[in-house]
Amino acid sequence: KSFTKEEIKQIVLDENVEFIRVTFTDVLGAVKNVEVPISQLDKVLDNNMMFDGSSIEGFVRINESDMYLYPDLSTFMIFPWETDSHGGKVARLIADIYTSDRQPFAGDPRYALRRLLEKAKDEGFTSFNIGTEPEFFLFKLDDNGKITQKLNDKGGYFDLAPLDLGENVRRDIVLTLEDMGFEVEAAHHEVAEGQHEVDFKYANALEAADNIQTFKLVVKTIARKHGYYATFMPKPVAGINGSGMHINMSLFTKDGNAFLDTDDEMGLSQTAYNFLGGVLKHATAFTALTNPTVNSYKRLTPGFEAPVYVAWSASNRSPMVRVPASRGNSTRLELRSVDPTANPYSSLAAILAAGLDGIDNDLEPRASVDKNIYLMDEVEREKAGITDLPDTLLAAVREMSNDKVIRAAVGEHIIDKFAEAKKIEYAAYRQFVTQWETDTYLENY
Ligand code: GLN
Ligand code: MG
Ligand code: MG
Ligand code: MG
Repeated sequence: KSFTKEEIKQIVLDENVEFIRVTFTDVLGAVKNVEVPISQLDKVLDNNMMFDGSSIEGFVRINESDMYLYPDLSTFMIFPWETDSHGGKVARLIADIYTSDRQPFAGDPRYALRRLLEKAKDEGFTSFNIGTEPEFFLFKLDDNGKITQKLNDKGGYFDLAPLDLGENVRRDIVLTLEDMGFEVEAAHHEVAEGQHEVDFKYANALEAADNIQTFKLVVKTIARKHGYYATFMPKPVAGINGSGMHINMSLFTKDGNAFLDTDDEMGLSQTAYNFLGGVLKHATAFTALTNPTVNSYKRLTPGFEAPVYVAWSASNRSPMVRVPASRGNSTRLELRSVDPTANPYSSLAAILAAGLDGIDNDLEPRASVDKNIYLMDEVEREKAGITDLPDTLLAAVREMSNDKVIRAAVGEHIIDKFAEAKKIEYAAYRQFVTQWETDTYLENY
């Protein structure tokens, strides 16, 4: 839904909203916000809210630092859990970033995604539909509100209480999301102890990315109310499954789902195969964006339901891309490598760019792999054309920086700032000596 300025002003009065929080996402995927009293509403709605871009990671240098926030009025939402000391409510708007001369800012990841969606539209695709499956862990908080190493329960996939103590938190999360206008399709315990998943209805990529950022805030806020800390860290505990964020995707034209072809043996159209061809081709390059932390690469290891290789399949779940069984308008590709630390805007821009490159250049996907890839050796994998996903953040960043399609799509500004920050992050990690290393080497050398 969309709102006019007048409608927002009316809702603000009717609902006793006293603060407006204007949010955006930086290059590294962190949500930033400025909160203003409602007396400033006109300034916000007239795109006159300014901030200092040089203080935001990966944005601009000091001498060009004045930037404007242009709120997207369709993102207006009242936080159902928050009231100030007067009992007034807090609402939020997601903003696009504009430069001091009022041009869209090249370092704004939301703008990168909007650009790609425009390109898709020029090619006849009215919507890039995205359904996400974010997973997270709940850790217990101690009496002082500090995070402990204790998971909230011993439940497993689809377990019920009393094993699944997350049930009440999850319900509260779902109810809160529904209050905020989300359509939640499923919420369940995941495979690992203390691990949960909430799936909400697909949306066009821009709204889907906004939703992911909102979702994380809701999960963290509600978990805390119940005495838990919710983390989207990809691999918080060694030896058990990590948390992914599967991305289900399809392109729609005015005539419906462009990935569907009932005459094909897999039910997929040529467009879907070409999109898949592009995704496979650029997978190693967009992985830095979809898996942007040192820890992400500890999840992408064999044995934990997360992909390790660039491959696709209709029937088994080990590859990076799966074709879920649903057909008709739900025909889609599921990208399983992504984790919830990804900046959803630049990630979806990169994935869409990869897919469109496949469509524009008639790229065919390599053959599907219907065996368990983890049981194949290197030679067998090579014969089947299966390549590896990057195994470290540094390797992934190098792949990303060298891919022209991804660079152009996400934009030089974001790619270069992101690569710079991630190289520093990797260098910091390398200085650290882990328990595993001392356990393995100390007494042997
Ligand atoms: N947690 C797994 C991952 O890391 C996914 C498990 C599942 O959803 N089947 O991707
Ligand atoms: Mg799922
Ligand atoms: Mg899952
Ligand atoms: Mg899935």
